[in-house]
Amino acid sequence: MVSSIPSGLSQDERHHLVQVAKDWAAANGLAIRPPPTVVSQEVDPEGVLAIHAPVTLFPSRFPRSCFEQARSVQKAYNELYARVSRDEEFLGQLVKELVDVDDFVANLWRVHQRVKEEGYVHELSLGLFRSDYMVHEDESGLQVKQVEFNTIASSFGGLATQTSLLHRFLAATEYPRLQARVKDLDVPKSDSATLLARGIATAFEKYNTTLSRGAERPRCVLFIVQDGERNIFDQRHLEYNLSGEDPPIPVYRLPFSEILQHTRIAEGPRRELIYTLPWSLEWAKPTEYEVAVVYYRSGYGPGDYPSPESWEARYHVERSAAIKCPTILTQLAGMKKVQQVLATPDTGDAPPVHARFTQGQPEFKPLLDTFTNIYPMDTSPAGLEARRKATDPELCKSFVLKPQREGGGNNFYRTSIPEYLKTIPEDHWNSYILMELITPPPATNIILRNGKLEEGGIISELGIYGTCLWNNEKVLHNEEAGYLLRTKGDKSEEGGVAAGYGCMDSCNLVD
Ligand code: ADP
Ligand code: MG
Repeated sequence: MVSSIPSGLSQDERHHLVQVAKDWAAANGLAIRPPPTVVSQEVDPEGVLAIHAPVTLFPSRFPRSCFEQARSVQKAYNELYARVSRDEEFLGQLVKELVDVDDFVANLWRVHQRVKEEGYVHELSLGLFRSDYMVHEDESGLQVKQVEFNTIASSFGGLATQTSLLHRFLAATEYPRLQARVKDLDVPKSDSATLLARGIATAFEKYNTTLSRGAERPRCVLFIVQDGERNIFDQRHLEYNLSGEDPPIPVYRLPFSEILQHTRIAEGPRRELIYTLPWSLEWAKPTEYEVAVVYYRSGYGPGDYPSPESWEARYHVERSAAIKCPTILTQLAGMKKVQQVLATPDTGDAPPVHARFTQGQPEFKPLLDTFTNIYPMDTSPAGLEARRKATDPELCKSFVLKPQREGGGNNFYRTSIPEYLKTIPEDHWNSYILMELITPPPATNIILRNGKLEEGGIISELGIYGTCLWNNEKVLHNEEAGYLLRTKGDKSEEGGVAAGYGCMDSCNLVD
């Protein structure tokens, strides 16, 4: 058992650490809006309250070799997903298999098709990616295996920086004073907040220098957000980093539901996206910005598209000149189906699908080691084999079944897989993938959630961020952009922090 809890930790010490951690969190914006179960609307009708983000009391021990392994493949992953995003034919084939059973994917594709008919105004795309891993243990030792690759709204980069700073602060000031005298922790700082902002800033500059020379309006970045977002401070940290650029980059937040109300496309072939400040005075000339970069922190799931107008809004942005993070194609590149197809093992009969992108180039080889077994649920031989495993009451225990959805709470685990499959028509099964469960070594820690401590078995998931800007020919910017460690109780299957299951954590690197 890997324990990150110092031996002999007393109740008094716990209590003291809670006071220190919650104050640090409030003072440094390691915060979320409280869940309604903690602070009801009646108590806080104006929505002014914030509470500390759920966080581990100690940084979790994490194998240094695994941390370095995950970091070392990030730039190759950025490049790989830029190449996948550019390959419309490849994505189109995968989408074709899904359109009949998945309205959401079908609608995304339709938006892309409409824009393509008219022609995209330019070829630039921005990716703020996050590749997620768990440590897998087998005979060959410890290595990271990829859980998923996020291409839209990759979150927690703002809070991850603050979490690493909290743990470094505690390691410098508090842990050495415990009875256990914990010293010499190696907690790397995560520079995700500044580096993700730098990715956006790079696209902003590119827009200014190549797409918008001599423009008549000031330029801005638009964050497209969800109404009632509770994880808002995570996003604010990125905004503040952009505002802190020299010269400052103007950033505005616009709810997805208000895109059509507050933006329009300029007349003429350049199709600039014009954002009018909602608080413009009626008697004065409205304040208008030309939007250089659209950064989606919404739009990744069906819930953001309650009506046909929502799809019009997405189309409206997609056809504009703003650099999209992500474009529809890049969003589709993040489908779990893409991950499954890329991870399909080399059988020796035909070249593996990933070779279409990796082209045998040596820089992609280490990345292939992070794939785990993922199977289609279609009617191919591999798919039929997967169906057999998924419906078998014993074999299903090693798997997780995933739909083409983002944002947590959509997966089915172990013995719930056969039951769930019974409830959906068999000709819809192909919209799922079946993935082998990654089983990290058992570990323990203490989670501070809503001011209370939860102690016990934990499972941690490492995310490595990457930023990438590319056009149809090549990648123009490619950076690794910091890390996130998310930890959940080992009884919880899902990992979303804001969803109330997981919590923020940092790596305490151990050899
Ligand atoms: P989402 O898009 O909803 O975030 P994920 O693929 O990341 O979907 O799955 C959600 C959570 O389920 C992960 O954060 C992880 O905790 C768990 N999970 C997913 N795949 C696996 C796997 N292969 N092995 C173990 N746990 C997994
Ligand atoms: Mg995930």
